[in-house]
Amino acid sequence: MLIKPVADLLMRNTDHFLIPADIVANVQTDNNLYHAFLVLTKIKYSRIPVLDNGGHFEGLISLPLITEQMLGFDQLNTDVLMKKRVCDVMETEVKTVATVTDVETTLHLMVDNPFVPVVTADRVFRGIITRREFMKSFNFLAHEIGKQYDMIEKDFSVSEKAK
Ligand code: AMP
Repeated sequence: MLIKPVADLLMRNTDHFLIPADIVANVQTDNNLYHAFLVLTKIKYSRIPVLDNGGHFEGLISLPLITEQMLGFDQLNTDVLMKKRVCDVMETEVKTVATVTDVETTLHLMVDNPFVPVVTADRVFRGIITRREFMKSFNFLAHEIGKQYDMIEKDFSVSEKAK
C-alpha cells in the first residue's frame, strides 16, 4: 500500500495523468495490417491501442507484431499486409486499470509498460496513462512532499545498537 502523503499528492494530479481517448492514436480490429503499419510509422509510436467500432478496447498492436508477419525465407512479404487484419495479430492479454485513481496498480504496471490503458468494466476505452505524464506527477511529489508534510528522519542506529 502507498503511504498516505505519497498517495495524497499523486491523487491530487490524477486529472493530468490521463491522455483522453479522443487524442490517443488507435486502429480498429478490422483494419488491415497495411493501415496499422502506416499509422504506426507516421505517428512514430511503436505500440498503440486497438478498438472495435464502438470504441471498446480490444488490445494493442505494435510494429514488431506486424513485421514478424512479413518475414519470409529470404525477403519481406508485403502482400500479407493487405491480407491480414489487426485482430489476427494484435496482443490481447493486456493489463488495464478501470480508473485513473487506481494509482497503485498503475505504478506497478508501469514498471514493465510505457503506458497503461484505462478501460471501464464494460470495456469502454477512456484513454491511456503514460510514463511521461506519471513522471511529471512524481516530479511534483518529490518537490512538494517536504513542503506539505513534516518529514522526520528515523534514527535506526539507536535500535541497531540495542540489538
Ligand atoms: P510517453 O511516456 O509519452 O513516451 O508515451 C509512452 C507510450 O505511450 C508511447 O510510446 C506510445 O506507445 C504511447 N502513447 C503516448 N501518447 C500517445 C498517443 N497520443 N496516442 C497513442 N499512443 C500514445
